[in-house]
Amino acid sequence: MLSVIEWPDKESEKLIDWHRTASRSFSWRKKPSKYQVLVAEFLLQRTQPVQAAKVFDSFMGRWPDIDSITGARESQLVKVLSPLGRRSRAKDIKKAFKFIKAEWGAIPGTEEELKLIPGVGNYIARAVLCFALKKPIGLVDPGIIRVFNRFFCLESSKVRAHTDKELWEVADSLVPNKKPDRYNLALLDLAALVCTAKSPKHNDCPIKTNCCFFGAM
Ligand code: SF4
Repeated sequence: MLSVIEWPDKESEKLIDWHRTASRSFSWRKKPSKYQVLVAEFLLQRTQPVQAAKVFDSFMGRWPDIDSITGARESQLVKVLSPLGRRSRAKDIKKAFKFIKAEWGAIPGTEEELKLIPGVGNYIARAVLCFALKKPIGLVDPGIIRVFNRFFCLESSKVRAHTDKELWEVADSLVPNKKPDRYNLALLDLAALVCTAKSPKHNDCPIKTNCCFFGAM
């Protein structure tokens, strides 16, 4: 059973320590509210973070809260979001926030409620809870799966996707109670900067000592 997996040593602390100096800097990470995380995640869908960062600040400058975004004209949204491509994104954002306003008046704070919002699945719901509310909750995305697969040598067992329920259980069992937001950001940045799909930089990795993949090289 994958769900009994544990970090062998103080890997979560090592990741958080490493992240103090290695973090990627994005506006939505500074003091994230539920609104900011939700907007950022919509911008990040099928988009590189560097691209999303180019429109996040102008988006927030125009529509800093739910009232302003639900009152926005779709044509304005399309224009601001145009550098990111995918015209339907404007419609998706409008639909999600209109739903929130009609249903609760404000962004809810439980996973079950968040997942009722159109366009919001496991990852976005949990990102809101972890980054805005600091809940100790695991995240799974393709980069984090790669780190888990390599660190615990899971790759041979079967091909795993972010929809794999067992992986979400693993992620939940590994997340620390202290600084869960920093820990999840560290995992995302480790996957993006160090444990990359091609040519991983093992020697720069803060958790290489206990890494199964690195140990087998
Ligand atoms: S040591 Fe290498 S394979 Fe292992 S987690 Fe770090 S970068 Fe990934």
